[in-house]
Amino acid sequence: MGNSADIPKTTCVVFDCDGVLVDAVSSWRTLHDHFGTDNDFNLQRFIRGELTDVEFMRSDIRMWKDIQDPITRDELFRAYSGVKLMEGARHVVEQLQANGVFVAIVSAGVDLFVSSIASMLKVDDWIANGFIFNDDNTLSDEGICRLHAVGKNKIILRLLEMNNLDPQNCVSVGDSEMDLSMHVDGSRFIGFNPTRESSIAAFQSAGIPVIHSKDLRDILPHLKLE
Ligand SMILES: [Mg+2]
Repeated sequence: MGNSADIPKTTCVVFDCDGVLVDAVSSWRTLHDHFGTDNDFNLQRFIRGELTDVEFMRSDIRMWKDIQDPITRDELFRAYSGVKLMEGARHVVEQLQANGVFVAIVSAGVDLFVSSIASMLKVDDWIANGFIFNDDNTLSDEGICRLHAVGKNKIILRLLEMNNLDPQNCVSVGDSEMDLSMHVDGSRFIGFNPTRESSIAAFQSAGIPVIHSKDLRDILPHLKLE
């Protein structure tokens, strides 16, 4: 692999966050683990398109509040304290930026968490979904939907336009079938460490390069930096 001679120069890399930049499949799941809840049923419904993003977030919050109410911002933040960066993530972002590549995170994960990863890795731009807090810093009942998990293309197109970047020079990296929406026309997509059965199958039939490792540095041979 890494036949980089005939691919366009990489000037923009867009990362999914959960399962790509961080070694945890879902920043929503981390909170379910924290509260001892399980949203697998609703996740499957969401993937099948039977729940909207907003409905899905609301049902997650409902589950946690059934266990504990109120929930503070600090507690949610602390729930992420055990989550680690993906092996090689820091190196890859540094290497890309040293080569003038624009680096962004487009995540349907939790903003509270994604923002801390974005500042830790000093990426150029980021967007995520997340929470609304009450005036006393307790969690409200509603999530905020800034992007649709299966509609990341809209955000990426806007990002490319805003930064005067060409889709041809853009590479997106994701770990789930929903991330295939990052594959905007003319750009390239790399599947990284898919874990769900459905993600592995979707990547296989999408005819895209897939990296089965947990070291983000393994994407570098698929990029063209100079
Ligand atoms: Mg992911």
